[in-house]
Amino acid sequence: MKLTILGGGVAGAVAAGYAASKGINDISLIEKDMSLGGLHRDIVIDDFHYDIGAFFFWPYHKLIHVFPGVKDLMVDIEPLYCLSLTEKGNLDLYPSTLKGYMKDWGITDLCLDVFGLVTNRIKMRLSGHKINSVDDEMKYYLGPFYQKTGLRKYIARLYGMSPSDVGLEFSQKRMSFIAERFRTSEILNKLLTLKANRLNQWTTFPISYARPTSGFSSMYSYIGEELKRQNVNLCFGVQIKEILIDEKKIITSDGKVYTYEHLLSSIPITLLCKLSGIPLNIKLQHKSLYSLFYVSNSEIIPKCHVLYNFTERGLWKRITFHSSYYGTEKNKHYFVVEAMPEERHLNDDGVSMLDQDFKDTFANTEFFGNIKKAELIGSHLTPNAYPIYTKDFDTGAIDEVKQFFSRKSIYLVGRQGEFDYLSSSDVAQSAINTINRLLNSAD
Ligand SMILES: Cc1cc2nc3c(=O)[nH]c(=O)nc-3n(C[C@H](O)[C@H](O)[C@H](O)COP(=O)(O)OP(=O)(O)OC[C@H]3O[C@@H](n4cnc5c(N)ncnc54)[C@H](O)[C@@H]3O)c2cc1C
Repeated sequence: MKLTILGGGVAGAVAAGYAASKGINDISLIEKDMSLGGLHRDIVIDDFHYDIGAFFFWPYHKLIHVFPGVKDLMVDIEPLYCLSLTEKGNLDLYPSTLKGYMKDWGITDLCLDVFGLVTNRIKMRLSGHKINSVDDEMKYYLGPFYQKTGLRKYIARLYGMSPSDVGLEFSQKRMSFIAERFRTSEILNKLLTLKANRLNQWTTFPISYARPTSGFSSMYSYIGEELKRQNVNLCFGVQIKEILIDEKKIITSDGKVYTYEHLLSSIPITLLCKLSGIPLNIKLQHKSLYSLFYVSNSEIIPKCHVLYNFTERGLWKRITFHSSYYGTEKNKHYFVVEAMPEERHLNDDGVSMLDQDFKDTFANTEFFGNIKKAELIGSHLTPNAYPIYTKDFDTGAIDEVKQFFSRKSIYLVGRQGEFDYLSSSDVAQSAINTINRLLNSAD
């Protein structure tokens, strides 16, 4: 079987390694950059390596499964501490616990809110209220807790719109654990078996891994070597001019022609359509993300690897304290803040406005002194960071495009390839599922 893969991010790399391990012996991977990794890359400023997200690899991540040797290059984190900053400036276990809620709001509010949750759910059921948006679904499952834990604001910040306009795909893809944990039968079951304290205990992994201290490049050069050892033909620095889908040919800007039997595409779906001359009659929306890079003389929050913003304030959503697991660099602590810019921030002053906005969130907290002194040493804008599914977004149209391509032996994988809200682990799994489907259909 002759398989060609477009894009060498995690999706393309895992697909190539997995396909080779399953005996596909004619594999080419075409990547426009000069190395593998795609969005898995760090930005180096003055010897500090910053990721543009919070990349942790759980033991079940398929990248580790397909390239087990990467584990030796990665940094072990045991356990990973993910915390939330609450509305009242306290710290809680991410995303929220009953204990943390009580610290913020007190026992009386807790009791009233449990009552509010139950009555709200009964009311919605009796009135036959239809769940149309993320807002409806979260209100149903969490009642007053939805607003007061800061979850509603978190979603609004992430999407840059009211959660009442956000389509249900978002909660199905990213928040299905809430529906699973807080459905009525589950609550009753836990109460009857006296496990109510487990209702809001979140699954944590005692062991996780982070990319090597020296950056993603060493990890992906190892992966590149492994792929070459498996006879995968890696084509770097290739610009695709056209894809002739009926002839199964790829024409590159330097006039070369690549033929394929099956094509796996992880490049953005819009680009695939353009290169193959297929109209895409859906408007795809994205939200951009700013990564702000900081150094600091002192540790901001001890024993915290990642901090989520569950307050009503600020446009930042998450801080990743790199030095809490890589150690300090030049005796300095360093961390990255992910901020969701508004239109007014996409100009020269935007970054300093977001810096101020981030620091202001901590006013009246015990961390303000240290945060104020942290120095912003760089930033990076990722346009098209998150796919946006609004309430009226037609996901069926995306499925139709996928089906059309699959009839032409082109399979879509990856975050932008599928236009799906996928984490790096989901992307790797989806690449493997696609290869398995391909192998099954060839049998
Ligand atoms: C800002 C941000 C933060 C994130 N944070 C996290 C996080 O903390 N945890 C997590 O699990 N996930 C996170 N993600 C998601 C994660 O990065 C992605 O799911 C994953 O890296 C996507 O991999 P991919 O292979 O689908 O795409 P990509 O990594 O985008 O790979 C696509 C590849 O295709 C190549 N390409 C594009 N056009 C062409 C062309 N014409 N010809 C040839 N090659 C081409 C690109 O150069 C790229 O290498 C984040 C994403 C973003 C944007």
